[in-house]
Amino acid sequence: MRITSDGGHLPLGDNKGSAWYGRHILKVGQFTRGDVDCVHGVAAEMQEMVKRTGGCDLLKGKILANMFYEPSTRTSCSFMAAMQRLGGQVIPINEAKSSSVAKGESIADTAITLGCYADVMVIRNPEVGSADEAAASAGIPVLNAGDGVGEHPTQALLDTFTMRQELGRLDGLTVTLVGDLKNGRTVHSLARLLTRFDGVKLNYVAPESLRMPQEVVDEVAAAGVPQNTFEQPDQVIAGTDVLYVTRIQKERFATPEEYEQVKGVFVISPETLEGAKDDMIVMHPLPRVNEIAIEVDADPRAAYFRQMEYGMYVRMALLALVLGKA
Ligand code: ASP
Repeated sequence: MRITSDGGHLPLGDNKGSAWYGRHILKVGQFTRGDVDCVHGVAAEMQEMVKRTGGCDLLKGKILANMFYEPSTRTSCSFMAAMQRLGGQVIPINEAKSSSVAKGESIADTAITLGCYADVMVIRNPEVGSADEAAASAGIPVLNAGDGVGEHPTQALLDTFTMRQELGRLDGLTVTLVGDLKNGRTVHSLARLLTRFDGVKLNYVAPESLRMPQEVVDEVAAAGVPQNTFEQPDQVIAGTDVLYVTRIQKERFATPEEYEQVKGVFVISPETLEGAKDDMIVMHPLPRVNEIAIEVDADPRAAYFRQMEYGMYVRMALLALVLGKA
């Protein structure tokens, strides 16, 4: 990318020879450890640049189509902020109801349309595989911002970036995933991505009905990563480096009664953290709905708000990479 000390950048054309140029970001399975290191390296440069000058014009003249068929605050806003801090522009489609999707247009046709106007597209949709469908016809790089209960690859990249920036390493971490592991796409992507690192151990804390899907467990096991399941966070807190808490995904339940049965099952409180290490962190992809008591926010180990900020740097890196500018 070559950002200069005054926050500008050396004039570069699109680096079409880069392995990242024109690449779709659809699932974490496409990333090697080297790829993750590369994204994190560029994200760290973005962080420095933003702290120094707020932004630059690396993506001047480029347009992002930001297509959200499901609610979003952080993912949508951080992609928009990322594009704008790099000097690019955004077509925001936050309520797919206001687009022709509401008239019955297919994802493929919508993607072809946006490919005519924009240089890169971000899509969130409730259907698993929807981002792949868009990628097959868009003609521009497509970034999956969450496909139903499937994956959320950019979240996993920012989650691992958060761990690296906060704890200084990814190798050897014991990561405890808590909450709705069945429906939470962030933990599906994160568990898979963590297998790229050495000596990682995974603990799962979830109600019986919301356990990690077998498909993910099998993939993680095939990579040789130890996985253990527990009933309560207290059972594993002492040995945990990262406590990754998730929301019970209300919108994925067939009936309100089923949701009521598991709602509020785990609440992380200051008492939960009494037995935790001093140098561990608590993360959450957010939004939280009572899974973490607000009293925890004041604990320096609460990293979930810092995690949101790291997300913007990672999304700046991804946009620059797929547009051949990094
Ligand atoms: N924001 C995250 C997602 O879109 C987590 C959540 O909604 O609970 O998957």
